[in-house]
Amino acid sequence: MYVRGVGPHIAELLEAKNIKTAEDLLYHLPFRYEDRQNPRSIDELKPGETASIIAEVRGAILMRTKRMPLFELTVGQGRLALKCIWFHATWLEGKFHAGQTVAVYGKVEPSRSTSNLKMIQPQWELLPDAGDDAETRLLEVGRITPVYESLGGSRLASRWQRKVIFHLLESMRGSVPECLPRAMLARLDMPNRETALVEVHFPPEGTSLAQLQSSSTPAHRRLIFEELFFLELGLELKRRRMRERAGVSFATTDKVREAIREVLPFHPTAAQKRTLGEIVADMRQSSPMRRLLQGDVGSGKTIVAFQAMLVAMENGYQAALMAPTEILATQHFLAARKLLERSSRRYRIVLLTGSLDEDRKRANRGLINRGEAQLVIGTHALIEEKVEFDKLGLVVVDEQHRFGVLQRFKLMKKPNQPEPDVLVMTATPIPRTLALSVYGDLDVSVLDELPPGRTPIITRRVSGERSSEVWDFVRKQVAKGRQAYIVYPVIEGTRDDQPELDFSHDPAEAAVEAPAAPKKATARKGKTPELFPRAVQEANPSAKSGLKSAVEMHEKLRTGPLSGLRLGLLHGRLDADEKEVIMRRFQRGEIDVLVATTVIEVGVDVPNATVMVVEHAERFGLAQLHQLRGRVGRGAAKSYCILITGDHVTPLAEERLNAMVRTQDGFELAELDLAMRGPGEFFGTRQAGLPDFRVANLLRDRQLLELAKQEAERFANAEKGRESEGTEAERARVWARLKEAWQRRYGLVEAG
Ligand code: ADP
Ligand code: MG
Repeated sequence: MYVRGVGPHIAELLEAKNIKTAEDLLYHLPFRYEDRQNPRSIDELKPGETASIIAEVRGAILMRTKRMPLFELTVGQGRLALKCIWFHATWLEGKFHAGQTVAVYGKVEPSRSTSNLKMIQPQWELLPDAGDDAETRLLEVGRITPVYESLGGSRLASRWQRKVIFHLLESMRGSVPECLPRAMLARLDMPNRETALVEVHFPPEGTSLAQLQSSSTPAHRRLIFEELFFLELGLELKRRRMRERAGVSFATTDKVREAIREVLPFHPTAAQKRTLGEIVADMRQSSPMRRLLQGDVGSGKTIVAFQAMLVAMENGYQAALMAPTEILATQHFLAARKLLERSSRRYRIVLLTGSLDEDRKRANRGLINRGEAQLVIGTHALIEEKVEFDKLGLVVVDEQHRFGVLQRFKLMKKPNQPEPDVLVMTATPIPRTLALSVYGDLDVSVLDELPPGRTPIITRRVSGERSSEVWDFVRKQVAKGRQAYIVYPVIEGTRDDQPELDFSHDPAEAAVEAPAAPKKATARKGKTPELFPRAVQEANPSAKSGLKSAVEMHEKLRTGPLSGLRLGLLHGRLDADEKEVIMRRFQRGEIDVLVATTVIEVGVDVPNATVMVVEHAERFGLAQLHQLRGRVGRGAAKSYCILITGDHVTPLAEERLNAMVRTQDGFELAELDLAMRGPGEFFGTRQAGLPDFRVANLLRDRQLLELAKQEAERFANAEKGRESEGTEAERARVWARLKEAWQRRYGLVEAG
């Protein structure tokens, strides 16, 4: 449609910002609001209050003080003047000219004399001259003014959007189509779409500013709800569709139960029994299972999955387990072999990973294809090598978050076969809000109990200067027959060469750390000469930057503080065979101390290991630290997690480390992680599938998400005729809108 103020050129600019339709523009909400209902006079300002002033620019100057550049703006009303100060704001230079009208909004700072009031870092906006544009003035003065993020330079800045959106809404008055049934809105006490859009952009007089800033006015809530409702309705539909598909319905006879009992090495916990019950109940259904098994590290997911796989195998189907790394695939393979040795049945288990040689791969593919292998364990190779299963009944995807959310669907699609059941396991506790949105099409089982006999892990944080004490401690533990991990953020050199670390490393933090680095690194030189002999340090780039790596520290520890112990080195650049050899030697107790990178993070199980040392712990994300800590405390012996910090610990890192020391509860840490990093970061940048919302925010809008889920279920039920709500036409519009929303937001056609 034609939008006043948007010609072809601007349309192009907007498109680059993903604003392609008038509607997109309307859903580009103000990111804050300014109360200019009552612009104040400078002489009535009181220190401590937050106020809005409209005044004339008198002068502006950039001062380069010793500590930092300061930008000072003086504004005036008649004889009265007010100073506004911004720190580090070199970019403000040249923006203001005497005589311009400016709105500033901020807290009035106390000052020695009342004639000398200040605002520190106020919000500001230059206003057009009173004469030339009465209309703009109407939108900007004497009202609650919306402030938008610029859509492209100064041209498409806040003021421009204000005007265009104002006219757009004017032109649509009375004709903004509703997409939710009126009865639903009435029941939820939410405004209609048009009112919501108008009020979110141009809040009526008297609207609570606090509610506006926290996006919780009725208008905001309505728009957020709308977005979440269509997400949840789509997910609900997917679940329902899945239930209509033809899957395998497995039988659980006594024979099956006996097969499981034969191999179980211990009594399952109540949580393991319950979750297995939920899984098996799904497997008995004729529709395909899509279930997420969540359990903290060490909660015993593996055995639950093996039992489910046995059910499939006992029913004459193949089962596949897909792990995120070769090490884990191999570990699962060995564990499965050991477990099934106890079985009276003769199952054939094969391993399929990318690094097998071609002959082995071909042979294994043949076994799988002819149905001669009942249990297949592998990595992505299971997808990439185009493995054709003879009769695939169950797929278990381990540590699924590493795969990307959508990829999991690829493996399952086999033509002319019933859909296999799918069980996704994750040790990353996923906060419920994310589970509801990202994994909303999965049913969820939670293993919320650890196997018996675990003692809590003692977590300590120490600074790098005390690392010699840590090495002494490691020696003592080894003397007691225990084993230890020592983890580094990088393999070699200074580069973060492990993609896993991408997401733990907040670029904002890096920026803060960077300038201070050289000075502090030198400061440390003198303190620990034995660990950092000068010669080595000079020659070694990573030592210079203060970042230790696994390769270098393995060498230093081996020849220095841990000499005499059997050290192993494990990192992602070793080939799969080497990794396997090292890992097995560690598992067999032939290596005392494993120096490693985060490759050991997920799933590795060595109950005799009791010490986890993480160097540069400040550089790891919470989820990672928690996973790493989960590698110890797997046996009955007391276990320790020692977080050694480097020289620069940012406030955020500080918070992460404190949380680690404070709690061992994975869900608590996950919630905190989510709060600290936001949903996108939580899953890592490469994680596809996280819906990107226009108005909703998963952290802020938890309650609305729950509400949307309820309402989506209710609506879907109503469609089945049970309690229908809304007129025929209204419901048709909901479906049309759903299709459109899913196509646009998620590029999925299936929802419609
Ligand atoms: P997860 O994969 O959930 O991190 P694992 O399945 O690797 O945990 O189990 C962790 C450890 O606990 C393993 O050594 C496993 O053998 C052991 N374990 C699991 N369930 C039980 C149980 N019910 N009783 C005793 N030990 C168990
Ligand atoms: Mg596991």
